[in-house]
Amino acid sequence: MYLYNSATRKKEPFVTHTPGHVEMYTCGPTVYHFAHIGNLRSYIMEDVLEKLLRYEGLDVNRVMNITDVGHLTGDSDEGEDKMLKGAKREHKSVMEIAKFYTDAFFSDCAKLNIKTPDTVQPATGLIPEFITMIQGLLDKGYAYVAGGNVYFDTSKLPRYHIFFDHDEADLQVGVREGVEEDRNKRSKNDFVLWFTKSKFEDQALKWDSPWGVGYPGWHIECSAISLKYNGEYLDLHCGGIDNAFPHHTNEIAQSESYLGHPWCGCWFHVHHLNTGDGKMSKSKGEFLTVSLLEERGYDPLIYRFFCLQSHYRKALMFTWENLDNARGAYRKLIARVAALKPGGEPDGEILSAQREKFIRAVGNDLNTSLGITAVYDALKLPVSDATKLAVLEDFDKVLGLGLLDRAAKKRTEDARLAASATASGDMTVEGEGDPEIDALVLERARAKKAKNFAEADRIREDLNARGIELTDVPGGVRWRRV
Ligand SMILES: [Zn+2]
Repeated sequence: MYLYNSATRKKEPFVTHTPGHVEMYTCGPTVYHFAHIGNLRSYIMEDVLEKLLRYEGLDVNRVMNITDVGHLTGDSDEGEDKMLKGAKREHKSVMEIAKFYTDAFFSDCAKLNIKTPDTVQPATGLIPEFITMIQGLLDKGYAYVAGGNVYFDTSKLPRYHIFFDHDEADLQVGVREGVEEDRNKRSKNDFVLWFTKSKFEDQALKWDSPWGVGYPGWHIECSAISLKYNGEYLDLHCGGIDNAFPHHTNEIAQSESYLGHPWCGCWFHVHHLNTGDGKMSKSKGEFLTVSLLEERGYDPLIYRFFCLQSHYRKALMFTWENLDNARGAYRKLIARVAALKPGGEPDGEILSAQREKFIRAVGNDLNTSLGITAVYDALKLPVSDATKLAVLEDFDKVLGLGLLDRAAKKRTEDARLAASATASGDMTVEGEGDPEIDALVLERARAKKAKNFAEADRIREDLNARGIELTDVPGGVRWRRV
């Protein structure tokens, strides 16, 4: 398997520290608000990656943090405490907010077929480990205390690894408009490991430490959590590209200084979801959530399908029109799967040949759109329906598009329509004697009569996908297979 590694800026064979075993870490959500679908794009692609590794027979240990310690809205050490901001907005305690939005995050993930990592660790549960790591950095001379806070000293590193060609202006925190320089810092890239003096006098969560009562900086939590559950050698670190700098940059600085050896083999970054008016963020425009998609009648798996159609290293343009196109394609696909007749023995040889082909395609830097192409190719194979269904079920272990599940639901729904159509008898249907098709044809004719053209078109598309041609005749509709 090949993956692009952000640290080397090259596509490389994916090699792990222990053969056959993958230690994987994912930066989790900050739980002060609902997850934006732009952030969920990262979790979807990381989920496909984890499933592909398992599909290839690797043993995966995946760890994720939950940022429930207050952390700052900006990249600098100033700004607002997001958790406290959420708590104030909703008149709840910080821990109530964290619990509510953690549950909401995992509920969204479940709807998107995203597997929960093996270990999920809220930052507030591991404060002693953070303190141990910070003390270790101080003991080794990689940190200093100034103005009551503990800072990481980036000048002590032979190389402060900054991902990508970052705009130098972004590093000039002190000169950015509206951002106050932290005068305790010895150099501009230094960052806080532990706060005892912050701008938030009313910080809700505080712990005792050798440096006084306070709370950890954001970056330390991922380094310490990964060290505890993944061990000293990490194979794969995932996150949205937003996190590459400064967060991942600072994670590398802390972890390698503390451990005294190289830490993570491969860095996997998922690019932005954009709208027509620029990068999506929580501060501007419509706040896009899984619930909003559902309110507008989209199955959340349509969004997963939409994400999988594009490569994770390209910015993805979100518009409702683009999502509608994905919905049309997804529904046609499900209709084709639903038209396959279950039962019978699949051909094992075909199955393993398809599996190899699939791994070659998707295993080339997580090419999910080729994974979807493989699904369409499998539908065209000159093999039995049982074999096709077995191949699709196998591919879907990685893609997670609910192909068989949604197809089964569709069959049930179509049968229900068939039952109600026979009872109605308000229109004649001439066809080839298939009650299920008769029912759909009737349903479409009724939707059309009721001027529900969207529904009528949807059913016609479904029928077309099954190779059914419709002709309007006086008093009814005629259909035939083409
Ligand atoms: Zn992180």
